[in-house]
Amino acid sequence: MERRLKYGVLRLIHGDITEQGVDAIVNAANSSLMGGGGVDGAIHRAAGPELHRECMEIIKKIGRLEPGGAVHTGSGRLRERGIKWVIHTVGPVWRGGKYREAEALERCYRNSMALARNLGAESMAFPSISTGAYGYPVEKAAEIALYAIIDELESHEGIEEVRMVLYSTYDFKIYAESLKSL
Ligand code: ADP
Repeated sequence: MERRLKYGVLRLIHGDITEQGVDAIVNAANSSLMGGGGVDGAIHRAAGPELHRECMEIIKKIGRLEPGGAVHTGSGRLRERGIKWVIHTVGPVWRGGKYREAEALERCYRNSMALARNLGAESMAFPSISTGAYGYPVEKAAEIALYAIIDELESHEGIEEVRMVLYSTYDFKIYAESLKSL
């Protein structure tokens, strides 16, 4: 499923983000950039130890990455798959919706895309940020994610393709329904 926008195309993909041949992939990291489970674990395993070393260098400089923020590293062994950069962003932990979770989630997408543009990436892929261990309801997260990506692709030149990569059939279905209604 895809949507053509003014400056690029948004594609929904059912698959694994580490297997996408795009310039940049986004990691749903935690504030310490330590690596963890879920998509974070999958990206670190696929990229190898260089990614962790680069993340630790960043943490030495900035202390911690706040929810909504985004930083980048190289891609370690993922370079062999054509991926040049990993963009690490921290999603909000869902606490019922009254703690500005939506704002933080939207910033994840917009800041990651701004960073990708600055790097010169022409294609990038997102996982469904916050909807795993961080508990964000996927219907709500899908709407925010897709709206932010569409708005960025309507207003900024540079990125020609954004893939929203959904790991489960259920998430793919929810994102597809959400995209139809936007
Ligand atoms: P968060 O802590 O931000 O909630 P998680 O990694 O726990 O992050 O989950 C985010 C989403 O990433 C979940 O929907 C999960 O199913 C998905 N996911 C897990 N592994 C992969 C992968 N290899 N590629 C793409 N998405 C993945």
